[in-house]
Amino acid sequence: MALRKQQRLVVDPIACQAHGLCAELLPEMISLDDWGYPILAPGAIPPQARAHARRAVAACPTLALRLVAAADDAGHPGDRVV
Ligand code: SF4
Repeated sequence: MALRKQQRLVVDPIACQAHGLCAELLPEMISLDDWGYPILAPGAIPPQARAHARRAVAACPTLALRLVAAADDAGHPGDRVV
């Protein structure tokens, strides 16, 4: 059986428009700051949250939320990893 690569969430703070949809779809890993911008839980997404994470990424209206390899620190220069 192949091991599933661990992933984490990143958000592009320029593209994010603070809709807050991601926090509604993935409350176990995303909270909102006072302005409605997402605060991401650090580290890899636990297996039980992967489906919700993919759904939150797909639902982001500005494509600001992305999944990247957990070990990938190169990401997009504007990505916000909290
Ligand atoms: S759904 Fe997308 S645009 Fe809305 S707060 Fe989350 S990351 Fe930002």
